[in-house]
Amino acid sequence: MIIMKTGATPEQIKRVVKEIESYGLRADVSQGAYRTVIGPVGDERKLPFDRIAVLPGVKEAQMVDIPYKLISREYSTAPEGLEHIIKVGEVEIGGKEPVFIAGPCAVESKAQLFKIAEQVKLAGAHILRGGVFKPRSSVHSFQGLGAGGPDAAGEALDWLREAGRKFELPVVSEVRGEGQVDLVAEYVDIIQIGARNMYDQDLLTQVARKGKPVLMKRHFGAGIEEYLSFAEYIAAEGNKDVILCERGIVPMGKGKSYTRYIFDLASIPAIQKETFLPIIADPSHATGRRDLIYDMSCAAIAAGASGLMIEVHYNPAEALVDAQQQITPDELKSIIDTCKQINRLITSEKSRTR
Ligand code: PEP
Ligand code: MN
Repeated sequence: MIIMKTGATPEQIKRVVKEIESYGLRADVSQGAYRTVIGPVGDERKLPFDRIAVLPGVKEAQMVDIPYKLISREYSTAPEGLEHIIKVGEVEIGGKEPVFIAGPCAVESKAQLFKIAEQVKLAGAHILRGGVFKPRSSVHSFQGLGAGGPDAAGEALDWLREAGRKFELPVVSEVRGEGQVDLVAEYVDIIQIGARNMYDQDLLTQVARKGKPVLMKRHFGAGIEEYLSFAEYIAAEGNKDVILCERGIVPMGKGKSYTRYIFDLASIPAIQKETFLPIIADPSHATGRRDLIYDMSCAAIAAGASGLMIEVHYNPAEALVDAQQQITPDELKSIIDTCKQINRLITSEKSRTR
């Protein structure tokens, strides 16, 4: 990490960047209000930090051994306490108000999607979700309309975009593989990386290069350091608009768990201490049970989450994917209303104790 002196000239910054590049690394330049910090991307051990430290305009040059330095709060150029707010249309993620992302697990038909979009909008949601490429454990179950080929995928994504425009909701959908990135990026405002693909560094890099915000879920087996290290792959492409999402980790031990995963609520404040990126929570996949969504939504917002992603269907029983965890639009409305109150309470409490 190279910290420039306040008032370092653009030429001095360029010189440091050139020096880093001459060793085969790339340079991530973060221009803060007061100072510029340059993060080398690549094998830092190749860099002669002693020499870089004495270049004109350099205040400090040191090797940073945390694997997620580009997104780390500690090495951020932003003044302390300033979060990275991601703007998607009119919606701000990571700001003072929690953001609610809602919609069906999978896009099933135009009529289904438009009906749900209208209902979640009325319930107070800010962003519409809907999977076109579904990650499924069984090859025999419905894989999303994207499985019908590029035309079918394009059509379903077009419904999503159209519904988003009609009801003034930015939209998010998942890419499951590299071959889907161009297509999905054309239609959505936010690209989703599913839990199973958190470790796919090539996919992360390709998605990052689209320059759109990325909603990146935590793998159910990933520790926090590992999760942030893979989010760093997106940041390393110069895209820091990453929305993190806690969606549950694998249960331990034998016997029935009664929830689909373990909702790791403590990861929310723990991650917030490490990174300036916003983190939201997905109680739908974490619990897999509609009767637990209300309680766990409240708990996630109380834990400081910047928002929630919740699966909603007007008739959950008829949903083709994840029927057991989808809630009705009415239930969504009561969650949003309560969560807004919880957020108001905890933010005023935080500012009082700061
Ligand atoms: C989803 O949000 O549609 C999904 C499949 O979630 P996850 O990747 O967390 O399992
Ligand atoms: Mn689902």
